Amino acid sequence: MAETTTLTIDRETSLLASVPTGLLINGEWVEACDGGTFDVHDPATGSVLTTLASATSEDAIAALDAADRAQASWARTAPRVRSEILRRAFDLVTARAEDFALLMTLEMGKPLAEARGEVAYGAEFLRWFAEETVRDYGRYLTTPEGKNKILVQHKPVGPCLLITPWNFPLAMVTRKVAPAVAAGCTMVLKPAKLTPLTAQYFAQTMLEAGLPAGVLNVVASSSAAGISGPLLKDSRLRKVSFTGSTPVGKRLMADAAQNVLRTSMELGGNAPFIVFEDADLDAAVEGAMAAKMRNMGEACTAANRFLVHESVAQEFTRKFAAAMGALTTGRGTDPDSQVGPLIDGSVRDDIHALVTAAVDAGAVAVTGGAPENGPGYFYQPTVLADVPNGAAILGQEIFGPVAPVTTFSTEAEAIKLANASEYGLASYLYSKDFNRLLRVAEQIEFGMVGFNAGVISNAAAPFGGVKQSGLGREGGSEGIAEYTTTQYIGIADPYANTHTPRPRS
Ligand code: NAD
Repeated sequence: MAETTTLTIDRETSLLASVPTGLLINGEWVEACDGGTFDVHDPATGSVLTTLASATSEDAIAALDAADRAQASWARTAPRVRSEILRRAFDLVTARAEDFALLMTLEMGKPLAEARGEVAYGAEFLRWFAEETVRDYGRYLTTPEGKNKILVQHKPVGPCLLITPWNFPLAMVTRKVAPAVAAGCTMVLKPAKLTPLTAQYFAQTMLEAGLPAGVLNVVASSSAAGISGPLLKDSRLRKVSFTGSTPVGKRLMADAAQNVLRTSMELGGNAPFIVFEDADLDAAVEGAMAAKMRNMGEACTAANRFLVHESVAQEFTRKFAAAMGALTTGRGTDPDSQVGPLIDGSVRDDIHALVTAAVDAGAVAVTGGAPENGPGYFYQPTVLADVPNGAAILGQEIFGPVAPVTTFSTEAEAIKLANASEYGLASYLYSKDFNRLLRVAEQIEFGMVGFNAGVISNAAAPFGGVKQSGLGREGGSEGIAEYTTTQYIGIADPYANTHTPRPRS
């Protein structure tokens, strides 16, 4: 037993030692220009994992210098070459899956089994966009009056700023980097300061896959605005792609307006999980567990409001609470752990305040309802029944393992409740009636809808939201379009001034 523990600690130490600690600028790992650093912590213990260089505004501009210098030749690089770099990166990430998974567990807290799932999901963007790279079709057609020609081609947008959140340290990075590589864009990536190690390790892997110097630059920093501020003002930057909270997204959109930058915004969510009276309740509970508990509830797609028909609410809640109450909480590296810690103490305290306010307003904690003793920022998997409409917990993103259940009596009421949110990212519908599912999907204002499915994220699908959940789509054939611009070339009548007769139609 002691030997196993020592081996595990040795493996963690040697993996952490293999993660680059500098800034990646023009293919080299370098110190911050002022020598500044910041610590990265393990949320399960609060201990420091490692220390990284903290980029300054000057470093951010140096990264953009490198991206700008690399842009022209990168745009001219053959699509097959870009495709094969992505494919090699997929192979390398897959071969290093255990290392990526352990790193994510250490810095973010999710159980190893989930981290492995994220490696598979995150790597898939590399493979998917390797395939899309060589299929970015333009078009050539004749104008309606039959004389001139229209040629439409796609070109890379140009240097992009990519800003990613802490909750999916690999997938949120590959979901941006892979389509940018596919389109021929260069990049400055700023990963979240809470979980930058996976991004550092991934960037090193991209270099090993053959990505030329300057195409991907990485500037982890303790000052996010110190990086984005000067870059958004610089006219060489052509796009910002952001995944994170809606308030920060709005601020970045306002700043991006100064240079009329292209923006992709993957923002917050408040997903309804609707269980109709004809649903298969066991399947609904299984889906609810996946939609709520993936990533400990720290997902923008997390089911945030359980809207259950009044005739089945009691049975659904009882089964759901039994499944939630049976989960084992623990450090993600512990093989028995099914629920890891939350990312930090303030997140845990905010969640507990929402739960307490809901209980004060009349909700009942059927299971859970309290933080767990430290070290680490653990919260009990919680199901709240009888949550009154209008409770704060239904109106905002919980981002933790808490499931509020409320009831409805008609389909129209369920739709009205679902749409009563400024967010419109993911939603989930459970019913055996396919016509009903389609009818409700037509009426709810969400970018993504799961029919009897609790997990819908997939590299081949267009991920994204409406309303204040964002702009643009990541993944699918839409994903590459976020990084290309369309150029139209009007071609004069090829028969003008020639003696060749125009073909008769
Ligand atoms: P956040 O907005 O606090 O941070 C996201 C990123 O923005 C981080 O890299 C952070 O350092 C940076 N940032 C913060 N303030 C900034 C500023 N003033 N200027 C520039 N950059 C700044 O979000 P978070 O807490 O890391 O992530 C959780 C949020 O992300 C949730 O709201 C969640 O719903 C959302 N999210 C959305 C998606 C999606 O695809 N729609 C996916 C994952 C997470």
